[in-house]
Amino acid sequence: MKQLTLSTASRNEYVDITAQVRAAVKEAHIEEGLCVIYCPHTTAAITVNENADPSVFRDIREHLGALVPEGKNYAHAEGNADAHIKSALFGCAQPVPVTKGALALGTWQGIFFCEFDGPRKRNVYVQCIKQ
Ligand code: ZN
Repeated sequence: MKQLTLSTASRNEYVDITAQVRAAVKEAHIEEGLCVIYCPHTTAAITVNENADPSVFRDIREHLGALVPEGKNYAHAEGNADAHIKSALFGCAQPVPVTKGALALGTWQGIFFCEFDGPRKRNVYVQCIKQ
């Protein structure tokens, strides 16, 4: 398993980690199988979405913020309930198939670490499973 370490710079941030995951797949030397990208945090997530047009994540950030606003009257007393809810919506892991030694991502797809309670130092685990 490969561990990536990230430092996020703001409270809500989407970090493109596609290149680091591609490097981990190459290092794992698997031709066919599955790559699981997992984040061991409760206020962050992993997602796969468009990496060509940055306005996609601008829209996601803005509309997710409207759907789950910060500072509402939540029961969770730590002050970051919105971050836990956003993490629950996206999920803490994504599986991506590996074929011919490479991630089987679509042309416009990238793998993103989603920060909902930054800035923080975060870990992402990349596990490649041979078929
Ligand atoms: Zn909390």
